[in-house]
Amino acid sequence: MKHEIEVLKEQYTASNRKRVQEESLRRKMHNEILELKGNIRVFCRVRPVLTTETNGKSTKDVTSDIQYPDDERKIILTQQSTTALGNTVPKIYPFAFDKVFQDNASQGEIFEDISQLVQSALDGYNVCIFAYGQTGSGKTYTMEGIPDDKEKIGMIPRAVKQIFLASKELEEKGWKYEMEGQYLEIYNETVRDLLGNGDLSKKHEIKHNLHTGKTSVTDTTVIKVHTPEQVHNLLKKAQQNRAVGATLCNERSSRSHSVFIFKLSGINSITEDTCEGTLNLIDLAGSERLSQSGATGDRLKETQAINKSLSCLSDVIAALANKEPHVPYRNSKLTYLLQNSLGGNSKTLMFVNISPLANNFQETICSLRFATKVNKCQIGTAKRSIKI
Ligand code: ADP
Ligand code: MG
Repeated sequence: MKHEIEVLKEQYTASNRKRVQEESLRRKMHNEILELKGNIRVFCRVRPVLTTETNGKSTKDVTSDIQYPDDERKIILTQQSTTALGNTVPKIYPFAFDKVFQDNASQGEIFEDISQLVQSALDGYNVCIFAYGQTGSGKTYTMEGIPDDKEKIGMIPRAVKQIFLASKELEEKGWKYEMEGQYLEIYNETVRDLLGNGDLSKKHEIKHNLHTGKTSVTDTTVIKVHTPEQVHNLLKKAQQNRAVGATLCNERSSRSHSVFIFKLSGINSITEDTCEGTLNLIDLAGSERLSQSGATGDRLKETQAINKSLSCLSDVIAALANKEPHVPYRNSKLTYLLQNSLGGNSKTLMFVNISPLANNFQETICSLRFATKVNKCQIGTAKRSIKI
């Protein structure tokens, strides 16, 4: 009996050791796969026409001519234009991204493609997922979805669910995680705490700790979460706070960026490894080009703030890709807030959401051009913020 117990004990220890080694290998390989795919990726998502948008006409009559060549990466828009001689000629606008999702793609299908990035945040990397596009193109639907409809819940609740499930599995391999959630809004270049008590006058300052590489925002609510339900409540509270803003300032949500920040710190009791990753999910302000000529006062200030912060985002990505010595993070609050999650140590995914409506054709082309610019950028190999 004694001998048998000894043998079993040894076998148990050996298989535990093997499991831990396998987990380290999995992390390494997972990261290599993502690096091969590129640390900056762009997905295009076309939303369907809503029943309220057809006004009794057929769907075809209200939509742009959008073709999807037999390749999941391409999208071609065509517009008929009239020449000086009065002839109608088609003008063709082809685009290619890392992936194109047609209007029938489900939230589940889309999540499949981003779940690897969520895993990376657990493995100790910083990840940013942006939704870019004009107001009404499906950014909030993609990020938050319809909360009470299981099929239609968005990327944020799906990511949270996956993190809880995966962290449970990692427990067997010695990992224990602490998770903290934060939800901020950036409006007119000022930060607001969406989990606070709704006090709009509170001032918040973004701070980076140069030694730890950690970012904090003063006087904001950070909630430690232990269950997916707690995160669900947190998201609900943020939504309510955003809605309050919306009535105070007509459609504020389309003119502000909202940033959900999920910090994951893990410690392995067997190997004594630690890792810290952050998952940032960002619903950007509407990208429609608002004319500055007619706007005055608050509206002009808002317009300028949005234009500036969106162009600053693409400048930062381009500077990182070109390995420029100076990256202009400080030029906008959004890039300053995300400084440690953009660049060398991180992975970025941008959804460019587009509307299929013919009325939105020009904005759609603008969004696709912006996304093409981002797609051309390739950020150097990401390093893991792990201390071994
Ligand atoms: P945005 O946040 O970019 O302003 P929304 O996410 O609010 O746009 O989307 C506008 C409308 O279109 C909403 O009514 C939303 O429910 C609907 N919608 C967006 N994307 C989809 C989709 N993929 N499937 C079904 N409905 C969608
Ligand atoms: Mg929205």
